[in-house]
Amino acid sequence: MTRPFKTLDDLGDVTAKRVLVREDLNVPMDGATVTDDTRLRATIPTVTELADKGAIVIVLAHFGRPKGQRNPEMSLALVTKPYEQVLGRPVRFIDDQDAAEAIATMQPGDIGVLENTRFDPGEEKNAPETIHRLAALGDIYVNDAFSAAHRAHASTEGLAHKLPAYAGRQMEAELDALDKALGNPEHPVAAVVGGAKVSTKLDVLKHLVAKVDHLIIGGGMANTFLAARGVDVGKSLAEHDLTGTAEEIMEAADRAGCTVHLPYDVVVAKEFKPNPPTRTVNVHEVAADEMILDIGPAATEALADVLKTCRTLVWNGPLGAFETPPFDTATVTLAKTAAALTKEGSLVSVAGGGDTVAALNQAGVADQFSFVSTAGGAFLEWMEGKELPGVAALAR
Ligand code: ADP
Ligand code: MG
Repeated sequence: MTRPFKTLDDLGDVTAKRVLVREDLNVPMDGATVTDDTRLRATIPTVTELADKGAIVIVLAHFGRPKGQRNPEMSLALVTKPYEQVLGRPVRFIDDQDAAEAIATMQPGDIGVLENTRFDPGEEKNAPETIHRLAALGDIYVNDAFSAAHRAHASTEGLAHKLPAYAGRQMEAELDALDKALGNPEHPVAAVVGGAKVSTKLDVLKHLVAKVDHLIIGGGMANTFLAARGVDVGKSLAEHDLTGTAEEIMEAADRAGCTVHLPYDVVVAKEFKPNPPTRTVNVHEVAADEMILDIGPAATEALADVLKTCRTLVWNGPLGAFETPPFDTATVTLAKTAAALTKEGSLVSVAGGGDTVAALNQAGVADQFSFVSTAGGAFLEWMEGKELPGVAALAR
């Protein structure tokens, strides 16, 4: 398979070559402890493959938001020890003050982590001086950080124009999965778009209506669409100023031959707290003092039937207020259906978004989807159909 970008398979002999590998090491920490090492683990294939091939591996990454200032609390020196444990190999911290000298003493197979790229004010500006400084430290550039690819920074974009550039294994897997989901998917394609607000996902909805066969709208944003159809949603979260936009999206879907699925039954409560008294009602029966907090069982079953007719699913946003029981019911149920269809081989399922990943984990099915993207902002921009600068810069 020839991809529009080069991968590690296209690398020649890298013995003793200095390879600058952009990774995402921006992990949450509590004191000296990494509380979620998912991002560190995701770097293992690329970093170990290069080290095993005899490269001198220099990992570039940002950590927190130091805004161009040195800040010891955001030094990647803090991540070096936990990273060693995850990799099971020694990792050397490279201070950016004398990086060239330090790298000159590294041996083939050695792995180092350069200080936080964002200590340099030129990083986020994609400044030529910064690109030049970084490029002087390496012979080859590998971008393995899809989650940072929506930013045109020196270490995510600029360097790709300065050194021979390749996608790392993680980047390659992410781009392959996304291509299967929306780039060149097998039809019919269903998109589930949920979450709190229409306003944060307008561009996603506009892009999807032209791409997918079924647009399934849930979560708080379904309330705005229901209101646009004249439904009284009571005290529900809804953006009443956006009902015109919701109508335009439904009209665009009609013209594109995309079926929009809104719930026809919903779970409502008077109070938003764990396990309050609830009612399951037709959308036309919501009382003035009630809130819609999840889509109902009949709607969920109908959506499961839609998924059964589809070959591809892309999912962003929970169908209800899943953090508060029992309003995770529809999300969990439909996620389990998607997981089962994926297991049967009838569905390619790709999901992403911070809360979506949390909801799929809560449902216990995150590892049963074909691919789950942990790249929040980059995943959404990709769902909006935007070209990601870090990816575009890798084009052959
Ligand atoms: P993601 O992070 O996956 O992109 P969002 O941030 O857009 O998802 O949306 C997730 C939020 O939407 C959750 O906090 C969830 O509680 C909220 N939500 C979903 N449905 C409703 C609803 N009916 N009323 C209020 N909030 C909702
Ligand atoms: Mg969110």
